Amino acid sequence: MTAAVLYGKEDVKIEKVPIPRVADGEVLVKVQVALTCGTDLKVYQRGYHARMIVPPALFGHELAGVVEEVGAGVRGFKRGRPHERRPLQRPTPRGGPSRPRRWRGGTRH
Ligand SMILES: [Zn+2]
Repeated sequence: MTAAVLYGKEDVKIEKVPIPRVADGEVLVKVQVALTCGTDLKVYQRGYHARMIVPPALFGHELAGVVEEVGAGVRGFKRGRPHERRPLQRPTPRGGPSRPRRWRGGTRH
């Protein structure tokens, strides 16, 4: 897949990388649309985000696409369904769909 990879301060490269393997608690989304936000700009300028990304790592966290694979223990996501990820999603209420445990970022074409 093609991904934006952050290597450090103002150092992002577009590269071919392996498709991530889905672990328990994770969802793989085939990205159809991605964008950058103010946080991405800050991360690009600083070269890292202590809680979100430590380089080298796939870069980006706002997207819309289709769920390709659902890891064990994830509820509320099904293969082939549209999905979007936004930074201000509220925690899932009890009994609602579970959220993926971890976000590894990146873009996929
Ligand atoms: Zn954002």
